[in-house]
Amino acid sequence: MTDTPAGTAGGTFDAPVLVLVDLETPTTSAAEAVSQVAPSGAGLALVAGAAALTRADVVSLVLGPVGADASAALAGAGATRVLAADLGDAGTQAGAVADALVSAVRAVEPAVALVPSDHHGKEVAARAAVLLGSACTADASDLRVQDGALTASKTVLSGSWATTLRVGGTGTTPVVAVRTSEVEVPGPGAPLAVEALDVVLSPESLAVRVVSREPAPTTSGPDLVGARTVVVAGRGVDGDIDLVRSLADPLGAAVGATRVACDEGWVERSAQVGQTGVSIAPRLYIGLGVSGAVHHTSGIQGAGTIVAVCDDAEAPILQMADFGVVGDVRTVVPQLVEELGRLRG
Ligand SMILES: Cc1cc2nc3c(=O)[nH]c(=O)nc-3n(C[C@H](O)[C@H](O)[C@H](O)COP(=O)(O)OP(=O)(O)OC[C@H]3O[C@@H](n4cnc5c(N)ncnc54)[C@H](O)[C@@H]3O)c2cc1C
Repeated sequence: MTDTPAGTAGGTFDAPVLVLVDLETPTTSAAEAVSQVAPSGAGLALVAGAAALTRADVVSLVLGPVGADASAALAGAGATRVLAADLGDAGTQAGAVADALVSAVRAVEPAVALVPSDHHGKEVAARAAVLLGSACTADASDLRVQDGALTASKTVLSGSWATTLRVGGTGTTPVVAVRTSEVEVPGPGAPLAVEALDVVLSPESLAVRVVSREPAPTTSGPDLVGARTVVVAGRGVDGDIDLVRSLADPLGAAVGATRVACDEGWVERSAQVGQTGVSIAPRLYIGLGVSGAVHHTSGIQGAGTIVAVCDDAEAPILQMADFGVVGDVRTVVPQLVEELGRLRG
C-alpha cells in the first residue's frame, strides 16, 4: 500500500469488513503488562483502507483492553464498531489469535477479514482461513471491490512479476493479509462503544503455552513493517550501525538490514528485508551500502521514494533508485545528517 489508505479504489461491499488491528509494540515486559492497548499507525491505515471497501460497518478487532483514546483513534480512521477480545497470555500465539478472528468472523459475517501482512499476520491468516474453510492470500496491496468480489495486487517471483488476484467468491469469508505502511489518517473521532468478543480457544491453541518472555534487543526502532521511513544497513556500512542510526534517528526512521548485515550480526534477524525477511512499503527507503540484489529488492516493491548511497556506480540499487549517490557511506552520511540538521534549524 502506498499513498492512499490500503490503495483502495472501485466499488464497495454491502457487508461489513473486519480488520484485525495491529497494536503498538509494548515497551514494557509481560510482567508489567500494559493496562490498555493502542493501535499502531499501520493498524489505523488498514482500518482506513477497509473503510474505502464497504458501505456497511468497518469492524475493528483489537486484542486487549481498549480505552477511550484507542477507540477514538479507530473511529477517526473509519471504524464504526470495535470488538475487543482478551486472550490473556495466549494473545501472542497465532493459533489463539486465529481463534479470535474466526469468532469475530462468525459474529460479524464480513465480506472479508483483513490482517497485517507481517510474519505473525500471515500465520494467523492461514490458520483462520483453514478453520473457516475459506480462501487466503498474503502480501496483498491495492485492494478493490469489483463485481462484488475483492481483487488485490501482489508481486511474485522475487518481485519480477505483478499479479492481480480475485479473492473469495465461494460464500465463505476470505482472509487477506495486507501490506500496510503508515499513511495520514484523520485525527481521533468520537470514541465508539467497545463490544467484548467471547473467544473459545481451541485445544490446539491451548497446547502452546508461553513459558517465558523478554524483550529482544532491537536495532530497528519504530515498527519496521509499518514504518514511514526506513534506513537499511547493507554490507557497505561495515558494521557501523551508529552511522546508520545517526541518519535514522533524526528522521524517526526504522532500521532495516540486508541479509549480509544480519548474517554478520550487525542487526537482528527480525530486521532483514527481502525475500526471506520482511516486506516493507515505506514512503521513503534509504539504502546505505546496499547493492540491490533481487532477493533484497523484492521486499521493497511497495516503497515510495528510493534513495541509495553506494560506492559502486553499477550496483542494481542505483538503477531503481529515485535518488542515488555514488560515494562512500562514511563520507556521504555525515554530510546528509549535517544538512538535515541545518534544514531543521
Ligand atoms: C534464497 C535467497 C534468499 C535471500 N534472501 C534475502 C533477503 O531476504 N534479504 C536480503 O537482503 N538478501 C537476501 N539474500 C541475499 C542477497 O542475494 C544478497 O546477497 C544480499 O542482499 C546482499 O546484501 P548487501 O547489499 O548488503 O551486500 P552486497 O551485495 O555485498 O553489497 C554491498 C554494496 O555496498 C557497496 N559498498 C561497500 N562499501 C561501501 C562504502 N563504504 N560506502 C558505500 N557503499 C559501499 C558495495 O560496492 C556493494 O554494492 C538471499 C539470497 C538467497 C540465495
